[in-house]
Amino acid sequence: MSVQTNISSAKLEKCTYCVKPLIVRHMDYEKYMRIALMEARDAELEGEVPIGAVVVCGDKVIARAHNRTEHLHDVTAHAEIMAITAAEDYMDAKYLTDCTLFVTVEPCVMCAGAIAWAQVAEVVFGTEDAKRGFTRYSNQILHPKTKLTRGILADECEKIMKDFFARKRR
Ligand SMILES: [Zn+2]
Repeated sequence: MSVQTNISSAKLEKCTYCVKPLIVRHMDYEKYMRIALMEARDAELEGEVPIGAVVVCGDKVIARAHNRTEHLHDVTAHAEIMAITAAEDYMDAKYLTDCTLFVTVEPCVMCAGAIAWAQVAEVVFGTEDAKRGFTRYSNQILHPKTKLTRGILADECEKIMKDFFARKRR
């Protein structure tokens, strides 16, 4: 697993993992993270914790989903699980070795495990989860080949969560 940080401060460098200039990949990351944020907002409208996820294969969004634990009465219905299931259904395959999963908040241990089982090529998350994020526990939960990128639109991804919980406390 590779960990890449502070992408925005290195915009003009070449991406470590491909020959494209990093700025191109950075823009792509933001484009797809914005779709994940739209999913997070949908979750919020439904009274769910606002977390959204998108699975991209090539340049195509093959699945988009959001947290649905309240509606489904299912603690496993996290955005990542819903998106992985939908993507596997779309691909008619159980592995997502050519796919990138975008999620607004750092995956929990359960979702990191599912991401590992699905052998997702790359995981991109927005804001960190200081309490439940899998990197608090181990960096070895993901599949060894899975690339990890963090901090894409982190402020927006964090704000939607903070606002949600602030409103709940009122
Ligand atoms: Zn999770």
